[in-house]
Amino acid sequence: MQIAAIETSVVSLPFTMGGPHPLFAGQPWNRLEILLVKVETEDGLVGWGEAFGHTAIPATRAAIDTIVAPLMVGRDAGDIQALRRQILHGVHLLGRNGPFVYAFSGIEIALWDLLGKRSGQPLWRLLGGSEPSPMPAYASLLNYGDTALVARNTADACAAGYRAIKLHEVTREAVLAARTAPGAAEAAIMLDVNCAWSAPEARAMAASLAKDGLFWLEEPVWPPEDARGLARIRESGIPVSAGENVAGLFGFKTLIEAGAIDIAQPSVTKVGGIAEMQQVIQLCQAHGVEVAPHSPYFGPGFVATLHLASALLEKPLIEVLWLEMEANPFDPWVRAVDGMMRVPGGPGLGCDPDPETLARYAIGAPHRTERRQSP
Ligand SMILES: [Mg+2]
Repeated sequence: MQIAAIETSVVSLPFTMGGPHPLFAGQPWNRLEILLVKVETEDGLVGWGEAFGHTAIPATRAAIDTIVAPLMVGRDAGDIQALRRQILHGVHLLGRNGPFVYAFSGIEIALWDLLGKRSGQPLWRLLGGSEPSPMPAYASLLNYGDTALVARNTADACAAGYRAIKLHEVTREAVLAARTAPGAAEAAIMLDVNCAWSAPEARAMAASLAKDGLFWLEEPVWPPEDARGLARIRESGIPVSAGENVAGLFGFKTLIEAGAIDIAQPSVTKVGGIAEMQQVIQLCQAHGVEVAPHSPYFGPGFVATLHLASALLEKPLIEVLWLEMEANPFDPWVRAVDGMMRVPGGPGLGCDPDPETLARYAIGAPHRTERRQSP
């Protein structure tokens, strides 16, 4: 069935995070924004996707509205593999990582939602999974830069049922504050430094953290492409994770061949969508590399992550940002309960947005790309 229209829109959700709101790429980050992609086929079926995200939304949205959506309307919505090849080839000169790949990722997720709805099957079933049970999540704390707030939010996350806590901090003091927080004695603690350190700095920090029992150390090295630099951090004995900034399947192939990572973190709204993510997961499985999806978002991309994870025999930890949203059109599927996530069982992603919540929190007007009429 042909794609009749692709529509982008943004919802903006107020949130609290147990501390002051940080900056994100220099911008105030006090609203949680989701870039929604709605794909309609000629028979009126609607699929939902999400493209990355946060302060990149204006750039990603422009990539969809001006370039990627016009390439895709009029095409068969079921031709996911062919579209993946042709569209990503068509835009590769514009960047193999970044807004154009994010744009395709968001539309591709919507195509899988459509495929599931058309066949009456949930996405986890299309991916070969068994009837899902709740999966463990980890609380991904935002950056506080304050050890007292790190300790308090770690304790609160443990009290909320999480058994694993990830910090976005850059000091050993923050790790020790989390480790000694009330209720955290048995929790797994991860540290994500978002590429804050040069390779030599990262080696020194890893040596100082080596006895602190970190479950993983995420993106310790700048730049993220420094595969050899990452590989040397593994010599500390701390498991190293990375992948949210990796360009597609071959980016992961490079990291794996360099022996750079213990844990791969593909991000479905960034890496190229569900099919690309599946290939990354299979590559990791073939090399004994664990997978822990990157999913700091709360729309159809997050729900797609749940389906991808539930289709795996060994369930990965699901990343859930530690924040409290006022509301979300995809409730209740985007919230952990006692540190666990449930997976929708309806066709496709199994959770269309609630129209009232969508209307209440939408900002600006949707942008619609329709199939050009024949002259
Ligand atoms: Mg990260």
